[in-house]
Amino acid sequence: MSYKITSQCISCDRCRSVCPTGAIKITTDGHYWIDSNLCTNCVGAYSVSQCLAYCPTQDGCIPVPTDYWEWWFATHDRLIDKLTGTSQTDYWKRWFNLYSQKLSEQLSKRKQKVVSVEA
Ligand code: SF4
Ligand code: SF4
Repeated sequence: MSYKITSQCISCDRCRSVCPTGAIKITTDGHYWIDSNLCTNCVGAYSVSQCLAYCPTQDGCIPVPTDYWEWWFATHDRLIDKLTGTSQTDYWKRWFNLYSQKLSEQLSKRKQKVVSVEA
């Protein structure tokens, strides 16, 4: 997982002062960006990424998952947060896990039926 500063950034400068590696930079025209060569995801310094934790906006600093499904879950969790106005952490992951569990139960039941018919 890496992080990206978006056009929603209000240039409050909070993230820059808390970043442990100095990875947050400002362009000459005042835009904030994260140097991926310096960003360590705060591993070893903090348990949560400081830029995300300190950002006062909803989408000024966003996680950019490197894995497709991580990206999908993060994007849709943010949409659910926006729609409901609350933080629904891991909403889609929980939905997906429940759905997979129910599907496996149904497949297992169907398999048992087939086995009993064949016997
Ligand atoms: S995740 Fe941590 S190291 Fe990376 S830019 Fe954000 S505050 Fe800096
Ligand atoms: S904390 Fe958020 S709004 Fe403030 S400068 Fe950093 S990215 Fe922009």
